[in-house]
Amino acid sequence: MDQPTTLGPASELGAEVGAAHAPSSREARKQEFMLARLAAQEEQRLRQTIRAALKSKGLLSAEDEALLAAHPAAADEERQAIERGREKKLRDEERTAEVEDSEADIREKVVELAALLKAAKHVVVYTGAGLSTAAQIPDYRGPQGVWTLQKRGGQASMPIEYEETRPTAAHMALRALVRTKRVRHVVSQNVDGLHRRSGMPATSLTELHGNIFLEQCVRCGKRYLRPFHVTDASSYHHHQTPRKCAAAKCAGAQLRDTIVYFGEKLHDADLERARAESAKADLAIFLGSSLKVLQHYKFIWERPRDKQKRFVIVNLQWTPKDRTADLKINGRCDAVLGRLLAALKLKLPAYSEHHDPIAALAKITGAKAVARGAAATAASGGRAPKSRAFPTVVRRSADERPMAAEAAGNTRKRQRRR
Ligand SMILES: [Zn+2]
Repeated sequence: MDQPTTLGPASELGAEVGAAHAPSSREARKQEFMLARLAAQEEQRLRQTIRAALKSKGLLSAEDEALLAAHPAAADEERQAIERGREKKLRDEERTAEVEDSEADIREKVVELAALLKAAKHVVVYTGAGLSTAAQIPDYRGPQGVWTLQKRGGQASMPIEYEETRPTAAHMALRALVRTKRVRHVVSQNVDGLHRRSGMPATSLTELHGNIFLEQCVRCGKRYLRPFHVTDASSYHHHQTPRKCAAAKCAGAQLRDTIVYFGEKLHDADLERARAESAKADLAIFLGSSLKVLQHYKFIWERPRDKQKRFVIVNLQWTPKDRTADLKINGRCDAVLGRLLAALKLKLPAYSEHHDPIAALAKITGAKAVARGAAATAASGGRAPKSRAFPTVVRRSADERPMAAEAAGNTRKRQRRR
């Protein structure tokens, strides 16, 4: 414990040793380094003891009292650090809590949103997992989110199959906004394909993380929309599907799913399109997105210094851009967009299989509805796609950095191996 003091400061030690024989400068540096290291270790031990004493419940022991009295500055610093930790924990809890504005507030804010929309020339909407939770697809950071449950040692599940999901009111409202050109482009982080299934034209949509119903030729880039999810065997850096390109020039080139897991590179063409749309935009609306993923791709949404660009965020949870947004609505996407359409005197279109390209494909391939099972098997060339390939993005690190991901497919592979 008192090792460093018996050795004395480096200068003294040098002087003592110097009496016998002068150490080389290299040796002196080494000794100095060793002493500094010992001192640092000692300080660390002291801090740990102080922190433990401060955190101990009930009355302090006489020994602890003496320790704190002997090191008042260190004790003060530790007290402040503990307080900061408590505040951070509280803040994190507040930030993950889902908070809903009052009816009156939402009504008022939607009027404001409608005015912003009318005044804007080029509106780009960014959608995240919060948009699809009403379709029973889990989000990542919500109370039942994939990561929230993972933190507690649980696992998010999808109560229904992807093929059985239907666009929500928010998806349908966005379709109406795109069709009436109130919204020029939608950039989605969702892979559930619900924007396409609402009848939104593919030209108005960029699916940053891919679409589970979409596969692509590795050679010619042709994209194939399927009436079943193509991510059955998909996992981090493994995207090959069992099907081949139909183009003669490709001579049976392999198809890949279009999913981009966290940690994988986004498709350049998608990023470029999102960037070009963002450059034109004077209003950006974020729906059901924590913006945490988008923080890594600022160039596809950020506010340029020299240009007026309004920001609106619709999300139940805190986002890092709440403070700088022109308008933050703590509301459910369905409710907010429903009211917005009414304010703009637009009708909320009903979901129709006629407008759903995936349902239409299912019909062509002989399925009664968009379904797994026999019809999907026939369409996939005899290979039955397994159900529930929720491309679960697993967060491996404790921080919020998007990390390597693992699909449900991996879990199945492990099960098969057993
Ligand atoms: Zn091809």
